[in-house]
Amino acid sequence: MTEKLKKLVFVTNNPHKLEEIRNIAGDRFQICSLKDIGCCEEIPETADTIRENALMKARYVAEKYGVDCFADDTGLEVTALGGAPGVHTARYASASGHDTAGNMQLLLHNLADADDRSARFVTWIALVIDGKATTFEGVCEGTILESMHGEGGFGYDPVFRPDGFDVTFAQMSGDRKNAVSHRGKATRKLIDYLNTL
Ligand code: IMP
Repeated sequence: MTEKLKKLVFVTNNPHKLEEIRNIAGDRFQICSLKDIGCCEEIPETADTIRENALMKARYVAEKYGVDCFADDTGLEVTALGGAPGVHTARYASASGHDTAGNMQLLLHNLADADDRSARFVTWIALVIDGKATTFEGVCEGTILESMHGEGGFGYDPVFRPDGFDVTFAQMSGDRKNAVSHRGKATRKLIDYLNTL
């Protein structure tokens, strides 16, 4: 007998994130995007923490569209800045959330006199199935360098060097980054959980 495919909506339209999760999830799950369910609206993410933001996005889509789904949210927590930018990581330098270079420049400026340059990326994934929420965390510890290195990746990758490496995320292949990254760790926890269902 063929096992029924479990349909799950990923609360994103980011093609890179979709491809990454489809590769890890294998063929037991049919993972759809927001576009696939006809959702074109901006999903609210106004909570005070990264975990609550992931929950807010997943619950919103589950309730409004009547689907099982999961959402992710990521923040960069810098020790010398008391955990900032944290939940404001995407919109650190500008409210638009699209100023990647400005975000990194502001971070380097704010750390100019810091002795402690340690930081961590934190990802939370919230899964809602039949209205019940479960969350998964992934953390990657590292250091904020004094300048940008590398052309790959996205976001703060050129200034973040994960512990145990002598290169930044922007100098790593996607596979190598996924093996140690916050999102890779949270995603593998999600998939392990889904495989127990
Ligand atoms: P999001 O929750 O995935 O949208 O991420 C929030 C913000 O964190 C993004 O706008 C990026 O600037 C940053 N970010 C998330 N993941 C990464 C990463 O793996 N490397 C560098 N920056 C990241």
